[in-house]
Amino acid sequence: MLGWLKRVFGEKKPFQPIREDLWGAATAPYLFMRGLSPAEREKLRLIASDFLHRKRIVGAADHEVTDLMRVQIAAQACILVLELGLDYLDGWSDIILYPGQFVPEREVTDEAGVVHTVRDPLAGEAWLGGPVVLSYEDVARSSNEDERIEGFNVVIHEFAHKLDMLNGEPNGYPPLHKGMNSETWKRAFMEAYLDFCKRVDDADAHSHHRGDAAYADLPIDPYGSENPAEFFAVISEAFFETPDLVKEDYPAAYEQLKLFYKQDPLARLAG
Ligand SMILES: [Zn+2]
Repeated sequence: MLGWLKRVFGEKKPFQPIREDLWGAATAPYLFMRGLSPAEREKLRLIASDFLHRKRIVGAADHEVTDLMRVQIAAQACILVLELGLDYLDGWSDIILYPGQFVPEREVTDEAGVVHTVRDPLAGEAWLGGPVVLSYEDVARSSNEDERIEGFNVVIHEFAHKLDMLNGEPNGYPPLHKGMNSETWKRAFMEAYLDFCKRVDDADAHSHHRGDAAYADLPIDPYGSENPAEFFAVISEAFFETPDLVKEDYPAAYEQLKLFYKQDPLARLAG
């Protein structure tokens, strides 16, 4: 009986809340923290603490994972589920942290049936039912006021993919909540995506270096034109970090993101 009780209740050890000083130091620079009320900050700190209790962050390539890195990743991941709850990130456990960009070897079969080995450096990737892999150099950029590009956030990006994957392969269509309309979602995102692809094509016609002035008017990372799944991940980054740009250019998509994440980052900035 005692053994049974221990098995049932023994694992429910309460998680250790992230220390206030560490939390403050880790999160102060983030754009998505702007306008959060004291109650929302506290809620985020507790969800992030629970996240670190439930997930493992493992260093790859001899990378030493510090407490600061753990808290930085937890805070950025958990802003997405602040109102959804951590269960949205259930079903997998590991975050693998490389010191810099990593080069996975992939075999790709072309139209002629020839298999090629592809090696492209990545800042992050999210596996269906598996881990999230991140480059710490890119993670750290979002908290570096001198180096960051506002609206770019690799952790938010990869965790948005994770939410998109809750109903299978990523396709830019995560499971919607009761009361949301799938047709409204699809229309809003399809219109925004097609418009955005056209704008990226126009910019590509003038330049191929994506840091150039030709891309300066785009509200989100041109990488979002890759496919609808990347569009959802990229627009999610901007939704939390530069919501004004998203709402101005794609108000219908902004509205759907607001309903999906149950947050209104632009209203926070105004408040
Ligand atoms: Zn992506």
